[in-house]
Amino acid sequence: MRRWNGRDVPVRRPELPHRLSFREESVRAQIVKRAVVAFALAFPGAAIAVAVAAPAAHADGCYTWNRDLYRGLSGNDVRQLQIRVAGWAGRRDIVETDGRYGPKTAAAVKRFQSAYGLRADGIAGSQTYAKLYALQDDDCTPRHFSYPELDDGCGRGGWSGGPLPSATTKENALHTMWKLEALRRDLGDKPLPVTSGYRSTTCNRQVGGASNSQHRYGTAADLGSLESSLCDVARAARDHGFSGIYGPGYPDHDDHVHVDSRRENDDDGIPNTTSWSASDCGIGAG
Ligand SMILES: [Zn+2]
Repeated sequence: MRRWNGRDVPVRRPELPHRLSFREESVRAQIVKRAVVAFALAFPGAAIAVAVAAPAAHADGCYTWNRDLYRGLSGNDVRQLQIRVAGWAGRRDIVETDGRYGPKTAAAVKRFQSAYGLRADGIAGSQTYAKLYALQDDDCTPRHFSYPELDDGCGRGGWSGGPLPSATTKENALHTMWKLEALRRDLGDKPLPVTSGYRSTTCNRQVGGASNSQHRYGTAADLGSLESSLCDVARAARDHGFSGIYGPGYPDHDDHVHVDSRRENDDDGIPNTTSWSASDCGIGAG
């Protein structure tokens, strides 16, 4: 059992693959092929109508955009876009997921496009969507983060036991993950392990978290780092929509970086302000 001693202990673990690897795919294809051959041998002369269809390049099981989006438009498609580019909000800023394509959304789309080598025009069209489809898994999580990773709930799992309905908590965790994907990209697309994400009230108490911790809402993640220094992570987080950042120099945060979205959290009963502190990294309070 993982030992929690009042803090979050970064656990170095490899990231879980979310898709079948190339090798696994080909093994699966071989198995299917073998089954077809076996069938043909068993029933000579039978018509074999088994087609092994290759998956479409970006078959998307999560969400599909049906129009170009730009400033002045609004709708759920804008909101879906905002969730995925909120991690490109820029220094000390946030992109609200309000379904209205304003200047902040346009700027975030531009930064997203630049980060992935696309034409940076701030308009979401086929190129931008293709990149988003490539980045997202069928359950809508970004490629390098997953629901299980964000829901370690003291080893128990499940999104219940917090102050919010579990569906809301899970949705918050999804928003958190897209910001983490942006942060990870900024840090060179190297592994960025989450050592603690959502915590039920019981779990939060067990690990000695602050009583009104953002972890209870699905809006927070504690990060270890395999490749970058913790200060690199904390400093970069300032550009990716995280209004709460605590890292080295802040009490009990010398071994991980805490990031959260408290400014967007209307359920926690505290003012929607930015709160950063990692004095060892040159990040002041406030
Ligand atoms: Zn934390």
